[in-house]
Amino acid sequence: MTDTQLAHTNGSTTLDRNGSTADHIAPPGVRWNYAAAPETVKVTIEPRYGHYINGDWTKPNSTFTTENPATQKPLSEISNASAAQVDTAVKAARAALGPWSKLPAKERAKYIFRIARRIQERSRELAILETMDSGKPIKESRDVDIPLVAQHFFYHAGWADKLAYAFPGATPSPIGVCGQIIPWNFPLLMAAWKLAPALACGNTCVLKPAETTPLTALRLAEICHEVGLPKGVVNIITGDGRTGAAMASHPGFDKLAFTGSTEVGKKIALAAASRGTKLTLELGGKSPHIIFDDASIDQAVEGIIQGIYFNQGEVCCAGSRLFVQENILDQVVAKLKIRLASLRVGDPMDKNTDVGAVNSKAQLDQINRYIALGQSEGAQIHDVNPSTLPSSGYWCRPCFFTGVQPSHTIAREEIFGPVLSILSFRTPEEAISRANNTPYGLAAGIWTDKGSKIFEIARKLKAGVVWCNTYNKFDPSSPFGGFKESGFGREGGVQGLRAYVNLH
Ligand code: ADP
Repeated sequence: MTDTQLAHTNGSTTLDRNGSTADHIAPPGVRWNYAAAPETVKVTIEPRYGHYINGDWTKPNSTFTTENPATQKPLSEISNASAAQVDTAVKAARAALGPWSKLPAKERAKYIFRIARRIQERSRELAILETMDSGKPIKESRDVDIPLVAQHFFYHAGWADKLAYAFPGATPSPIGVCGQIIPWNFPLLMAAWKLAPALACGNTCVLKPAETTPLTALRLAEICHEVGLPKGVVNIITGDGRTGAAMASHPGFDKLAFTGSTEVGKKIALAAASRGTKLTLELGGKSPHIIFDDASIDQAVEGIIQGIYFNQGEVCCAGSRLFVQENILDQVVAKLKIRLASLRVGDPMDKNTDVGAVNSKAQLDQINRYIALGQSEGAQIHDVNPSTLPSSGYWCRPCFFTGVQPSHTIAREEIFGPVLSILSFRTPEEAISRANNTPYGLAAGIWTDKGSKIFEIARKLKAGVVWCNTYNKFDPSSPFGGFKESGFGREGGVQGLRAYVNLH
């Protein structure tokens, strides 16, 4: 089935719109739907997985189930690493450190290049697996996540033998054994952000994916094995917060890197500070998206959609607070309603789907709690998307709120879902002070026709990344990271390398 075929929602008619440009315009009162276009390639998933430690797989132990959030069907049984297994992984990484860090840099680069190429070769399988385990639409895992994963390995492979040029006047050396804990919203991409720079700089790693999305990290362990990466250089262990806590308190790590909630990040910071372990944290956000009246409104509306509804809003840098200049507020809201109504919510494996499944029941409950709070605190909900949600799985129709006050909970706290809060402003000064009025500082977006305004506002926004006339664009050469409670340290670019070297 191709996307040139259309189906009638009020019946089972399937129309082929080839040869006509007008037949997809529905008669009044009738909504045409795209026919289903599911990804059909089968991907093998083992019934049970152990940990990948010291170049070998452990026997699965004390397992838990990872499920497909779009169907609630189990995908596999995953092992919960005990403190003893964390210790074994740390020892393997320690033993591998000497030989790996002493390898000529161009040899290290070859391994990283091989990983990148193998990711490209297996990209379809990885995209399908990511979508099954996380609920994100296949068009995102296929066109955004997995290509970026390969790019991160390619980019950092290129740096491995050029580190001296990255830090002029200083001699970089590896930090040592790195413990890396990652979340479920970009499972394989976060693994790439952590592993690629660490390996390029000569470190060895123990990485733990999130408990709801371990499958692609385990596939990455297979890829490391396939390319002959020396044993112990990358160890992938699975488990929940208890495994994460065992990693955070293990004295054998020279560096910890964490991406996830601010709440857990604070616990890890405490554990690391008590031992003087190096640390980078990428935490939550409540990123402002500012639209001035001289912006191209249609482009800005597209940017708002990208900013908050992309990946079900499960993005730490989601543009979740929209500030619109007061004189264009009604116009923006009207256009946003039309665009929001056109988003397709449903089967993440369908190539037409824009908004997939929420990653877990716990996450959906949190989103629904915030939606209820928004209404009870007096904001007005716009639930205009007409999609019929599937009967099983975890779903949230994308929506937005108007009449939001800065004191409302939905304007202050991270929802991590497809829920946008719209506020207004009159002057640039007011936009800046309202945008900065948050404990977070991860990202921001500015929409205006005036270049000088962009530079002036971007300088005054307390955010690690400021996108101008675009949003949610990533590149391995651009550093990413936060201010204030959004964390510290940068990932990507030369700045990201700094987090994985000691300088002499
Ligand atoms: P989210 O990704 O929903 O923001 P978390 O911050 O809870 O959520 O999860 C991010 C990662 O941190 C996951 O891999 C999770 O298993 C891990 N984790 C959870 N609790 C702890 C903890 N106390 N110490 C270390 N890691 C933890």
